[in-house]
Amino acid sequence: MGLTPMMQQYLEIKESCKDCILFFRLGDFYEMFFEDAEKVSKELELVLTGKDCGLENRAPMCGIPYHAANSYISRLVNKGYKIAICEQLEDASASKGIVKRGIIKVVTPGTYTDSSFLEDNKNNYIMSLYVDSNKNLVALSFADISTGEFSCTDTQYDLSIILDEISKYNPKEILIQDNLDDKICEQIKERFNVSFTRLPDQMFTTDAEETLVSQFSNFDKGEYTDTLIKACNGLLSYVIDTQKIPLPHINEMEYYNIVDYLTIDSNSRRNLELTESLREKSKKGSLLWVMDKTNTAMGGRQLRKWIEQPLIDKKAIQKRLNSVEELLNNISAHEDLKDALKEIYDIERLVGKISSKSVNAKELISLKNSIEKIPAVKNILSSFKSNLLNNMYSNLDELKDIYEILDEAILDNPSISVKEGNLIKEGYNKEIDELKTAKAHGKEWIASLESNEKDVTGIKSLKVGYNKVFGYYIEVTKTNLNLIPEGRYIRKQTLANAERFITPELKEMEDKILGAEEKLVNLEYEIFIQVREKIEAQVDRMQVTAKIIAELDCLSSLSTIALENNYIKPEITNSEELFIEEGRHPVVEKMIPSGNFVANDTHINTSNEQLLLITGPNMAGKSTFMRQVALIVLMAQIGSFVPAKKAVIAVCDKIFTRIGASDDLAAGKSTFMVEMWEVSNILKNATNKSLILLDEVGRGTSTYDGLSIAWSVIEYISGNSKLKCKTLFATHYHELTKLEGILEGVKNYSVSVKEIGSDIVFLRKIVRGGADQSYGIEVAKLAGLPEEVINRAKHILERIEKENGSDINIEDISNLREVAVDKVESNEKENSTEVVVEESIKESAINTSVKSSNVSKNTLEVDVSMQMNFADIEKQNLVKEIASIDVLNMTPMDGFNKLYDIIKKAKSL
Ligand code: ADP
Ligand code: MG
Repeated sequence: MGLTPMMQQYLEIKESCKDCILFFRLGDFYEMFFEDAEKVSKELELVLTGKDCGLENRAPMCGIPYHAANSYISRLVNKGYKIAICEQLEDASASKGIVKRGIIKVVTPGTYTDSSFLEDNKNNYIMSLYVDSNKNLVALSFADISTGEFSCTDTQYDLSIILDEISKYNPKEILIQDNLDDKICEQIKERFNVSFTRLPDQMFTTDAEETLVSQFSNFDKGEYTDTLIKACNGLLSYVIDTQKIPLPHINEMEYYNIVDYLTIDSNSRRNLELTESLREKSKKGSLLWVMDKTNTAMGGRQLRKWIEQPLIDKKAIQKRLNSVEELLNNISAHEDLKDALKEIYDIERLVGKISSKSVNAKELISLKNSIEKIPAVKNILSSFKSNLLNNMYSNLDELKDIYEILDEAILDNPSISVKEGNLIKEGYNKEIDELKTAKAHGKEWIASLESNEKDVTGIKSLKVGYNKVFGYYIEVTKTNLNLIPEGRYIRKQTLANAERFITPELKEMEDKILGAEEKLVNLEYEIFIQVREKIEAQVDRMQVTAKIIAELDCLSSLSTIALENNYIKPEITNSEELFIEEGRHPVVEKMIPSGNFVANDTHINTSNEQLLLITGPNMAGKSTFMRQVALIVLMAQIGSFVPAKKAVIAVCDKIFTRIGASDDLAAGKSTFMVEMWEVSNILKNATNKSLILLDEVGRGTSTYDGLSIAWSVIEYISGNSKLKCKTLFATHYHELTKLEGILEGVKNYSVSVKEIGSDIVFLRKIVRGGADQSYGIEVAKLAGLPEEVINRAKHILERIEKENGSDINIEDISNLREVAVDKVESNEKENSTEVVVEESIKESAINTSVKSSNVSKNTLEVDVSMQMNFADIEKQNLVKEIASIDVLNMTPMDGFNKLYDIIKKAKSL
């Protein structure tokens, strides 16, 4: 027994794409065989069947209908698989023997372009990484095939820089050299959910320069390093290899220098929740969530890039700020602008589709409708004077010629399929019009035939109909058959209670109509392709327009948030001072009831106020304050107004944060190791223009170790002239407050707390001076720890404080236990939490309209809601979790697991 010819063909093709799942087209299905079938049937929960393949055992097989393939492909790609699409390359009926088949496209996570499954506001990047270990250089290049963006950079080899760049772009797939050190991949994999594709070295090196010259209109030979050229070539070759068609929209290579942008290392990006929240990994709760008020998909993607890449050039920042201000001062023009932007579709991705020849007529109409709005945009821009808006005005190509082509050629409401006719407008092509007339004339003739035959035969119920098998026919019911004159009709088909007939004239007209129809469909398709090609030739112009619209939309968004959230224009300087008056955390202020956020001032520089040491109990607001400072700086450097009353921002070169890394536990590292790794990275890379946030450094180890490390880190930063940078240091080690006065530039601050009886209320106000107490036990009480435990802790604490550093006598403390339990009962009445809460509710009810800066009364109101006990928070989290379940995108198995998970959580509450 041998393999069937078809199976031989299958295996030959499969041999050429071993790392892919092969979608093998058989009639109306894509079939998968062998391991592919087993894998896919599991992943997508498809039925696994078998097919005779000529061998003893049937080949495992599963299949999907071709018209539903897109959603299956998207699910597989999301899981990191690559799919090779193999089509029949000739008409099955025309071929002798086995139909010719071949791979027409390979879909991979990084080259996926189906816009119905891609997120509008997010690019889908593929990246290549090329390391030249002899020269100690590394080059990175990134592309989004759906939009045509292609950018690249190179630098001295440094893993942390590679990680930072990856975190900026979040690529779905990374191309690497075959022989690249596994360790690098592991490090990347540990942090990012990305698939790797190893390419043979020649994919990077062969004809590198020639490939780039022929693809990019702006590629200058001799201007780039060899390493960079190889990285770009690898990426481009892979893209061409998988798409298998030319991609004219990838026509510009954008080189950028990493140091031209604010450096934010990958941990800080996560910690500061720039584009997604730490816990839920959702846009909600991130800076992007607050800042994104864009009206176009292009603008949404661009804004994300702006947030990922804040500027460091004072002039460039000021230009953006001035334009935001101008929009803000012209509210009505800005409203008109927003209205126009809302009507503009994703020109970038439409252009990508035109380039890859997958665009349909409906999408060309979307393009036309978008272009239609551009003159209005240009008109609004004409009244603006700020540099950026004015340049946009000058450079905005209204694409009138493209509009005209589309308007003349394509029907306003064309078919989705380009192979069913109904695409081209009357008057665009003479032959099409003639065919349409012929078709219409034929139909009229047939319509008149019906009334004619009714008259002749006297049969009122006679009708003319059409079906695909028999074409046009005359139908007469059985009861009327006797009325038909002898020999008038030819019998064609018998139904239960009617007969169908034809006449030679009817068949002749039918041939004419059907002939015209077929010709029409073909000709309309042909003309459609011509129109598409005409437009394709203008791809670069449309891209320039799209880019301007995207950036304009970003400026508009910045202006919108400034207005809505009451932001102010920061003053940007190249000095050493950072001064923020009544600053707010842009995200937290939106997450809590409006007006409840307590604003705080910040004054920090590189000399006498260089390191702010912030103490205060847990939950007081230390971390929030520190992040707020970093986010305000970051927003300012994006060119955005900021949440403050006044802000003077010295441009920073880098922002570093070391903030609780609980989520790194999942990556298998001990928190303390991660903490120290991050701190050492900061100490090595910060400069005196950087901003550093250190939150509870040393917490991950024993008290004395931690304290000593924190202490020496502070000494190192403030004593090192190269490093002497603006630093915010939050700590619960009160001992460190002694450093003020000893180390130059160290200043103590604390978050104020009000004691009410034995309870505390957080005032959220940052004040000068160290905190005198840690209030750990009070916080524990707020968290709902049993009264007995709380009281016991108090007694232990009292005792330890009495011993004051001398050796603690554990036995003594143990003996105190009984006394403590006794005391609980007598204390219970006096120390009731409820009393305090009730009081503060009363107080806040009287003061409903207190301003946010009015601390004393207003915060009491905040705190009632804020200080709910932890079980309530857990319950709320569970509700949130349930609300966020996306059932439609889950497999039944995932759904079941989730349900199980939720029930478990609910039971534990
Ligand atoms: P810490 O770091 O001191 O433990 P956090 O900064 O995590 O405290 O703050 C705890 C909570 O207090 C935050 O989740 C936030 O809801 C609230 N909070 C913090 N700062 C403020 C503020 N300035 N105004 C209002 N609420 C605040
Ligand atoms: Mg904290």
